Amino acid sequence: MAFKQTSYRDTWADINLDHIKYNVREVKKQFKQQMNVMAVVKADGYGHGAVETARAALDAGAGFLGVALLEEALELREAGIEEPVLVLGRINPEDAKTAQKYHIRLTVFQKEWMEEAQKFLSSEFSPLPIHIKVDTGMGRIGMKEDQEILSFLAALEEHSLMEAEGLFTHFATADEKETSYWQSQYRRFLQIAGLLNSSLGPLAYVHCGNSATALRFPDHCFNMVRFGISMYGLTPSEEITDEIPFSLKEAFSLHSRIVQVKKCAPGENISYGATYTTSGEEWIATVPIGYGDGWYRYHSSNGGEVLVNGEKVPIVGRICMDQMMIRLKEPVPVGTKVTLIGRQKDRHISVLDAARRLGTITYEIPCMISSRVPRRYIQKE
Ligand SMILES: *Cc1c(COP(=O)(O)O)cnc(C)c1O
Repeated sequence: MAFKQTSYRDTWADINLDHIKYNVREVKKQFKQQMNVMAVVKADGYGHGAVETARAALDAGAGFLGVALLEEALELREAGIEEPVLVLGRINPEDAKTAQKYHIRLTVFQKEWMEEAQKFLSSEFSPLPIHIKVDTGMGRIGMKEDQEILSFLAALEEHSLMEAEGLFTHFATADEKETSYWQSQYRRFLQIAGLLNSSLGPLAYVHCGNSATALRFPDHCFNMVRFGISMYGLTPSEEITDEIPFSLKEAFSLHSRIVQVKKCAPGENISYGATYTTSGEEWIATVPIGYGDGWYRYHSSNGGEVLVNGEKVPIVGRICMDQMMIRLKEPVPVGTKVTLIGRQKDRHISVLDAARRLGTITYEIPCMISSRVPRRYIQKE
């Protein structure tokens, strides 16, 4: 059936791939030595589109891709991407055979998992490359104690269908001004790296840096960084914005077009619950985006604004599932562009502004915008 095009509604997100490339190139310049960049494209490229983002990052010099789930890794393979991909989370041991078949690297942090997964691997394929995950203070996944690690390494020697390729850990507070906890995690990681080195010899990849670490502590990143949020041009947290060594370029913006403009008399009510009442004669416009698109209802009760003709105008009344209303200073034609996140003329509503409004972090904003909103890719380079 060919009658369904991807979108019939004028609501979309623009993804600027040139900005992603710029952010990757700039981060590479921060390191004294040659640094491998793993572009983290989990959760559909933080809502930007995993395949397109991955291609842009690889183009700009990333050499590795990171995802959270096996299905995310397979999506990249299905799109024809052949570069190394690491699944950062745990998968079911029986699915290790699928990873091996498609040359997908896996994160391993349990001896029992390794023993179980081994049963599903095949000598027909090359050995499964694994990255050993240690917990130095994040408290999420990873091995903690020396003894646990040593017994894991002893067992690994007997599993010829797995090959240790990497070692990594993850920081809990790399995006906070106060660095003592980060330092204690780093020191513990150094100890573990020493332990592994003396028992396995040097590994091809040792990595601990997320975006915040890569940007703030470039001399503490071993030979690979896992570059996520700042590849998309977003700051890991507001409090370290002044420590970011170059100006990040935001890749995500969100737009729609007005479908109706009406003149309201004083005292007319707008939207569900009639929570907004016009105080004078007002121009009210309807915009076809709502919480069904991931444009969270709370934007409206919390001072939400959008851009129309380069001016900030308020969201009025409750956001509905598919539509919302805004108040204009003067009438504009149906079809006029509305920017919910992004730039119009010299005004900008950033992802961070939207995050502040909702009391959350930058990471969550593009992830929230659902797949009902088509992503359009901008690439001039
Ligand atoms: C998501 C993730 C990253 C990327 O972190 P950013 O803060 O987005 O750069 C790195 N490592 C692991 C293990 C992750 O899960």
